[in-house]
Order: sequence, then C-alpha cells, then structure tokens
Amino acid sequence: MKLNPIIAGNWKMFKTGKEAVEFISVFAPKVKNSSVDIYIAPPFTAIYQAAAAAKGSSILIGAQNMHAEQEGAYTGEISAGMIKAAGAEFVILGHSERRQHFHETDEGVNLKVKSALKAGLIVILCVGEMQSEHDQGLTEEVLRRQIEGGLKDITAEEAASLVIAYEPVWAIGTGKTATPELAESAHAFIRKLLTEQYGEKLASQISILYGGSVKPELTPDLMEMPNINGALVGGASLKIETFAAIVAGATK
Ligand code: PEP
Repeated sequence: MKLNPIIAGNWKMFKTGKEAVEFISVFAPKVKNSSVDIYIAPPFTAIYQAAAAAKGSSILIGAQNMHAEQEGAYTGEISAGMIKAAGAEFVILGHSERRQHFHETDEGVNLKVKSALKAGLIVILCVGEMQSEHDQGLTEEVLRRQIEGGLKDITAEEAASLVIAYEPVWAIGTGKTATPELAESAHAFIRKLLTEQYGEKLASQISILYGGSVKPELTPDLMEMPNINGALVGGASLKIETFAAIVAGATK
C-alpha cells in the first residue's frame, strides 16, 4: 500500500502568532489542490492563531514538544491537553535538538509519546544517529534503541496514530542531506523494527519521514524510495516559496 505523503514543517523557535497567520494565509492557497498531507509545527505561542488561520484548509497544526504529565507544578511546561485545546492535532517528540540541548532520554520521550497518544494527538517520533555514531557504523544500534525505547508499551491500536521521522543529526541544519539510498536503508531498518513490534500489516501503514536539510530539488528523489513516505523540514519550511516547492515535489 502506498501511503499518502506527509510534508511536515518544524518552525523551531521562529515566528510569532502574527507571522504564522501571515505565512498560512499566503501558503494555504498555494497548496490548496495538493494531495499531500501538510503539517506545520509553530512555537507554542503561535499554535492557537495558526490553527485558526489553517481552519478550512488541509493543513494540520501541531506542537514541537510537550510535558508528559497532564497538569501539575511544572513551571514553564505545557501538556498534551493544553496544546490540543489550543488547536494542535499532532506533536513532534524526541527531536534531536530536544535530546541534545534539553537532555531528553528515550525513557522520557516514551512517557511523552504515551501521554500524547492518550490525548488523541498524532505523534511524530524523531530518531536518528549523531555524526560520530554514523562514522562508527552505529546507526542501526542507535535506531533500535530509540525506536524500542520510545515505543515501549505502545499498543498496536495506539501505534495507528504514529509517524516516525528519521533525522540523522549530522544532516539537520547543516545543508548536508543524506542521499536517497542512505536514507532508504535507515528507513527500511526502521520498518523492520516496526514489523518486529507490530507485525507487517500495521508496520506498513506507519509513515516514515526523512528529515535533515530537505530542499525542493531533492524532494522527488527522496520520495521515490519505497520506505520514504514524506519529509520533516526545518529551515526550508520557514519560507513560503520553498515549503510550497517541497510540497509540490512530494506530489509528483
Ligand atoms: C528539523 O529540524 O527537523 C530539520 C530537519 O531541520 P533542517 O531541515 O533545517 O535540517
């Protein structure tokens, strides 16, 4: 079964609510006839306005992170229920910038995945090896640890709302995109891990996105690979023209 492509934009710590509305009001008409599923994750503070601006379009708005607890004395944190109430329909979890700068572990990511799925959010779980791990040939070991750890005790029913993003850390924000063949080999391995946990049928229905310096001109070749079902895009999702060109590239 060919999965419908997903192109997801991770805006990181860029754009205010007003800027998000301006972006979506110009971007949405450009992608109106696209068959691609388009996701945008603005900062927390722009979710409500972005979701209102995206209403009536096929763009889903989501968050880039959340806390695993529903509520409590966690100053500065935001829960799954809160982002959902603000208009988020998905959440990115375990992004390498969260793992690197905020010391997120597979155990902590797993608690967030459980909480997000329980709240009815789609989860984009990010995995991927660092440059040193890549150089030492440890990619599969890292992916196994992150997938098995991140999805521990996630049932098959819950896994239906799951998307995986393979993001080699050495490719994020560096301009160094993985070759389609190299990405495909990691994606095929992730599919194998999902098959071990959920069986072939369900594993074949889980979208696996590639992330790491995705550019418009590289999108069609990436999308041709059998296990690449879309892209998670950072820098290039901040500009209307480039993000729309990536969506167009995923359509062909
Ligand atoms: C990301 O932040 O998930 C990402 C892939 O960033 P970039 O496209 O800028 O490499």
